[in-house]
Amino acid sequence: MENSVATAAPEAGEAGETPTYITYEQRDGVAWIKLNRPDYANSQNYRLLGQLDDAFRRAVDDEAVKVIVLGGHGKHFSAGHDLGTPDYDRLLPRERKLLWYDHIGLEGAEAQYTLEQDVYLGFCRRWQEIPKPMIAMVQGACVAGGLMLAWVCDLIVASDDAFFQDPVVRMGFPGVEYFAHAFELPPRIARELLLLGERMPATRAHHFGMVNRLFPRADLEAEVEKIALEMAQRPRFGMALCKQAINHVEEARGKRSTMDAVFHMHHLAHAHNQLVTGSLAGGFDGKTMAGANKRQAGEG
Ligand code: ZN
Repeated sequence: MENSVATAAPEAGEAGETPTYITYEQRDGVAWIKLNRPDYANSQNYRLLGQLDDAFRRAVDDEAVKVIVLGGHGKHFSAGHDLGTPDYDRLLPRERKLLWYDHIGLEGAEAQYTLEQDVYLGFCRRWQEIPKPMIAMVQGACVAGGLMLAWVCDLIVASDDAFFQDPVVRMGFPGVEYFAHAFELPPRIARELLLLGERMPATRAHHFGMVNRLFPRADLEAEVEKIALEMAQRPRFGMALCKQAINHVEEARGKRSTMDAVFHMHHLAHAHNQLVTGSLAGGFDGKTMAGANKRQAGEG
């Protein structure tokens, strides 16, 4: 059995070297995969998402791994997609894992469309179909693209200080690219989450069934480990079939066709933003978005 820990600092190394944005640890049949950009609230750049796909592949390929935990180092699970940190990498070459062509150099709406079909919609669908059970371990902020990562997991286990938010209607979008909102929450509550864009406390998300279990922050990892170890006792094939069964229920309820429809609305909004403001995100960047969210939450 292989036990390994990769804990490279998230800073860039030598010129041209790709930083390590993910840590991977395997123990007792559980793969612990964590986002490792704590200085930027684990915001997701494109290389991080590629490395996350590699980590999932490693966990799927490792016969010793029965259960996958997805978490994040630091105060927050994930603040969402990277909208402009120093490691923003939209125009850097990246290793493509799916079969969309490269977005770099494309014009008009095509560039963002191909990029997001690939690394947002494509990756999330692929990850939801991973045949091993996945537990999202969520603390602090789980915002926008952070929701996408939590939602592809089978269970969401959160600390009592966690909150969930999709504020992108503020930027003119119907919601994030992986539009599972009304599958994860009752439609009335999904409307509220989106139209007000407020932070939903973990207790309320738990009340509506979006979060499976809640624990004090200090106990979160130990409690997730207990759940993962219990699950790891089940036969691999039974769990793989169970995942497919629930995925099938969601497909039968129209999840895929809903997401395809809304993905195109999301890209109408990207194109509209570019026409009207010259910016994909309607003039918002990470800082202005975080500032607006904090003001709304009464934090500044
Ligand atoms: Zn987008």
